[in-house]
Amino acid sequence: SELATMMNVAPTQVISSCMSLGMMVTLNQRLDAETLTIVAEEFGYQVEFVDSEVSDAIIEEEDKEEDLKPRAPIVTVMGHVDHGKTSLLDYVRKANVIAGESGGITQHIGAYSVELESGQHITFLDTPGHEAFTAMRARGAKITDVAIIVIAADDAVMPQTKEAISHAQAAGVPIVFAINKVDRPTANPEKIKEQLASMNLLVEDWGGKIQSHDISAKTGLGVNELLEKVLLESELLDLKANPDRRSSGAVIEASLDKGRGYLATILVQNGTLRVGDYVLAGQYSGKVKAMLDERGHRLKEAGPARPVNILGLDGAPQAGDGFVVMEDEREAKNIAAKRTQLQREQSARTQKNLTLEEIGRRLAVGDFQELNVIVKGDVDGSIEALSDSLQKLSTEEIQVNIIHKAVGQISESDILLAAASDAIIVGFQVRPSANARKLAEKESVDVRLYSIIYDAINEIRDAMEGMLSPDV
Ligand code: GDP
Repeated sequence: SELATMMNVAPTQVISSCMSLGMMVTLNQRLDAETLTIVAEEFGYQVEFVDSEVSDAIIEEEDKEEDLKPRAPIVTVMGHVDHGKTSLLDYVRKANVIAGESGGITQHIGAYSVELESGQHITFLDTPGHEAFTAMRARGAKITDVAIIVIAADDAVMPQTKEAISHAQAAGVPIVFAINKVDRPTANPEKIKEQLASMNLLVEDWGGKIQSHDISAKTGLGVNELLEKVLLESELLDLKANPDRRSSGAVIEASLDKGRGYLATILVQNGTLRVGDYVLAGQYSGKVKAMLDERGHRLKEAGPARPVNILGLDGAPQAGDGFVVMEDEREAKNIAAKRTQLQREQSARTQKNLTLEEIGRRLAVGDFQELNVIVKGDVDGSIEALSDSLQKLSTEEIQVNIIHKAVGQISESDILLAAASDAIIVGFQVRPSANARKLAEKESVDVRLYSIIYDAINEIRDAMEGMLSPDV
């Protein structure tokens, strides 16, 4: 069925082509290289096995349970603009929660690790906001373990607060709320908790399970307790990694430093990275010449959940690219070169993200159980009505999930969320912004615009029943 999708033919045609070769195959059967080549030729396609070569070379063995050791949680701070994300990150970076280290962290390196009084560590991603979070997720990086969502207690749950909540939920990342600015006389944390409750998000004081703490990012009040709650939340996740293996992880950010060459902040997710290791990161590779921590100290090695700056790559990989240590330098170079080539050809290759037309086909081949939808509209009432009706289209075979709904035009953040969650976007009486439209094209995200609720429901029902005509 995958091959059929790539060639844009019905799976039954591929099956009958196999039958003519004397092979009885099922939809989910893997074909060997020779069969793939012959079948593809029959449909006028030529097979090139570049993708599998790239991934085969870096296939990861599973870790054994006994090799796994606890690791620090990795935290992203999100929330509405001006509610205090940067202030919280700054406070944590500079504060004395960093045991035994005077002066704190001076450098901005995209991520940093702090040690609490209890001796435990937390790694913060210093790129606040759900856009950065979801952009990395769209590139395949699963980095964040816990999301702190900051809400200003002298304000309210705002549109971007809701976005941040949806983005964290879509990624399956647990949330800890930081009710901020409680030093202000007009702060009313209870009002915020009440608003959250009305959205079905019950914090602990309200009898719910979601952790929340009142803080002031300015004075530092409550920040330690907040971090303790983050640790509590992450204990439930039982985070582990194996320090004794070839290292792998993700790129947080990268840049060109005039004097030193390419500088990449990376997060080690498994194994231990050492100076001298040969690293493949996205489309680039290189030997780690030097490794620096967030305090500018030189390191010889870095274990799981440790963010470090590395020098030595031959280019700047993108945030969210994976990295892996390679045994063979030539192989790393080869793969990097192939990836560059693949990247160039990517736009001409099969569509990555879901379109409404494809739903019927994926349903027919039985590899489709969930339809994720983002609903944007001009007024609350119609968004609720539309979301409800869409959810009710769920059947035994396919569940419709509304992963985000909000008033307002379709934004870049919506497109990123759709790309990361394989979702389609339904706009009711709203349009995408110019930048969002460009991004949707680039990421091939399906954006559907309607001015009649009934049309939206019908079209999606038809798609789910596999009845959408291909020319819609
Ligand atoms: P961001 O946009 O979410 O990163 O918000 P910032 O961290 O830039 O904060 C926005 C404004 O709120 C700044 O002027 C901060 O000084 C102020 N601010 C942030 N946290 C607090 C707080 O706990 N108390 C008070 N009084 N002001 C704060």
